[in-house]
Amino acid sequence: MQEKYNPFEDTILQFERVADYLKLDSWVCQRLMHPEKELIVHFPLTLDDGNVKTFTGFRVQHSTVRGPAKGGVRYSSNSSLNECKALAVWMTWKCALLDLPFGGGKGAVICDPLKMSENELKKLTKEYILAIKDIIGPYKDILAPDMFTNPQTMAWIVEAYSQGEDCLELAVTTGKPVCLWGSLGRASATGTGLFCILEETSKFLKFPLERKRVAVLGFGNVGATIAKLVHRAKCKIIAVTDISGGIYSEKGIDPIELKKQVKRTNSVVDFPGTESIDNEKLIALPIDILIPAAIEGQINKNNADNVKAKIILEGANGPTTVEADEILKGKDVLIVPDLLANAGGVTVSYLEWVQNLQRFFFSEKEILEKTEKKMKKAFWDVVKTVEEHKVTMREAAYILAVGRVAESLKALGRTI
Ligand code: NAD
Repeated sequence: MQEKYNPFEDTILQFERVADYLKLDSWVCQRLMHPEKELIVHFPLTLDDGNVKTFTGFRVQHSTVRGPAKGGVRYSSNSSLNECKALAVWMTWKCALLDLPFGGGKGAVICDPLKMSENELKKLTKEYILAIKDIIGPYKDILAPDMFTNPQTMAWIVEAYSQGEDCLELAVTTGKPVCLWGSLGRASATGTGLFCILEETSKFLKFPLERKRVAVLGFGNVGATIAKLVHRAKCKIIAVTDISGGIYSEKGIDPIELKKQVKRTNSVVDFPGTESIDNEKLIALPIDILIPAAIEGQINKNNADNVKAKIILEGANGPTTVEADEILKGKDVLIVPDLLANAGGVTVSYLEWVQNLQRFFFSEKEILEKTEKKMKKAFWDVVKTVEEHKVTMREAAYILAVGRVAESLKALGRTI
């Protein structure tokens, strides 16, 4: 049996390497290596059939050195404390790289959302929030959508968190529906940001996007949005997979029609005019751009050598393991790392939080302009660091992000 991948171990390796490179003091390392807070909660729920089931949830705050923790909530049967810890760590570095006034957090509930009714998911959300209420809040830890959670989940979070409060506490989460003061542009922000970074990458590499062959692993919020945008840029989408299976067509796949099917059937499988494919075959396809947009560890030591793409654009968090990264260093492929590539979501989340706290709102044009400006600056800061330090884009992103958090920590004088 294959050993279960523990992404938190990878975050430690990534941190140790950059900490050595930056020659960080040992007390800085000790502060940043492990999360500040990890909460595990268990709560019973009466299901629609009358049975009672106990669910387990997590909320992890890796760092609040540069501001309140910030990070999504995931509903998945594979979630674990270690997964949340890793995702919280990556959020700290991502917020630092984008220079947002947040630390990193993440949460999850172990459940099978595709098998639960709307009523069950609503009750589950309420119980989870009541269980973690003490440690979250607009100035403590701000939630957001992640895998199998969405604006509706965020609305339920606001309602549950506001129980017993004097008013609706909007800023406890971002990614809300616009009618509850969610930001314009948030729903598609991660995919839009991903595309902005792809365009900058294409300029940097002098690699025009037109007619490039693309494969997308994961077709949810992030995967479907980036698929639509690369299709609009005249790339050809050769393959797409999701949790139920995958599809492949040399003629190209229309992501707009595919999304209509997913809305109806919850799956990309059996899309007309395609053959079936799995994740491993998708990763090994002769393509130009590989876009992982699902879970961690999909590109790993077992398949990294098969990658033929010229660019890996990391839409998902942690899709490439540390071992795979090492293998890919020896190949002709540019990895645009998650910390940078998928930061459009948290950037618009930051703008949503600012708008909610001020009760003052920006137009969609303003949101897009502000986000694009931040994303482009982060991209070219990373490129400059790549050139100065002769490192990969991921290493450069870590040098910038970890360096900033360490500097803030020192300025606070939090010595042990
Ligand atoms: P989502 O729930 O909307 O979509 C997830 C997609 O991945 C679905 O199509 C699902 O079927 C697919 N999937 C799940 N397991 C899979 C597997 N084993 N193989 C193939 N496909 C699989 O989630 P999302 O919001 O699009 O998030 C996707 C990734 O992007 C996650 O890593 C998340 O942490 C990251 N991310 C999301 C946001 C955001 O704003 N939503 C921001 C930054 C990063």
